[in-house]
Amino acid sequence: MKTKWKATALKMGELYVEKSSLTYQKDIGEHLWIPMWATALSEGGYNVLIDTGIHDLKWVEDNIGPCRQQFDETIVEALKRGVGWSPEDVDIVINTHLHYDHSGNNKVFKNARFVVQKKEWEAAQNPIPCQDSIYFKELFDAKAVNYFNLSFVDGEEEIVPGIKVFLTPGHSEGHQSVLVNTEEGILCVAGDVSNLLENIYENVPAGILTCTKEIYGSMEEVRKRAEFILPGHEYLIKKYQSSNFPSIKKSANV
Ligand SMILES: [Zn+2]
Repeated sequence: MKTKWKATALKMGELYVEKSSLTYQKDIGEHLWIPMWATALSEGGYNVLIDTGIHDLKWVEDNIGPCRQQFDETIVEALKRGVGWSPEDVDIVINTHLHYDHSGNNKVFKNARFVVQKKEWEAAQNPIPCQDSIYFKELFDAKAVNYFNLSFVDGEEEIVPGIKVFLTPGHSEGHQSVLVNTEEGILCVAGDVSNLLENIYENVPAGILTCTKEIYGSMEEVRKRAEFILPGHEYLIKKYQSSNFPSIKKSANV
């Protein structure tokens, strides 16, 4: 029988953003606080972490925009409270992509292997100009992370039994999402292919894009492959939530 994993949502603080940065040309001028989610995968034989949050509140405020973080929303505290791990306990880190709010604490994980799409790594070295400010190379480059700990994948790959990555480009060039076999079914830890449930339910692309056409295809792939979803910035997800993730189909929730 296929390995079953437990997924735990770890809150990495909140960003204050204009809504249309999450939902393409929709609700322009509306602002909201959104959480940043990392996800710990446990009980399957390895300690796996998907995305690593932000490295420094002040850096985000100075370079990106308003941000807040409670005391238990730093990576070290959140891991301890959510799954009882210290950073040294993490075996594998999967970055959905390399934006600052998904790779901020990569350098903290000294014993981990890092799973990144080759395409994302290459794009991050020379981002398209409108995404230059959200790729902060010191966070993820071969100096931050021992080069030999980086595992580049090219498309779809099973990382360990019950955990698979696949390409979901559009928000970034080499964006990947993660399919996790859980007790309840297949959970997609989506990253920013779906910032909010609204993206996947209403078929509205994210507002930050490298390719509008690609993200529609990526959202369709997610709908096809998963039963449940954990979007990268959804506010209905609860801190340390580890079951009852939202259904991939809106109708199933009402
Ligand atoms: Zn992003």
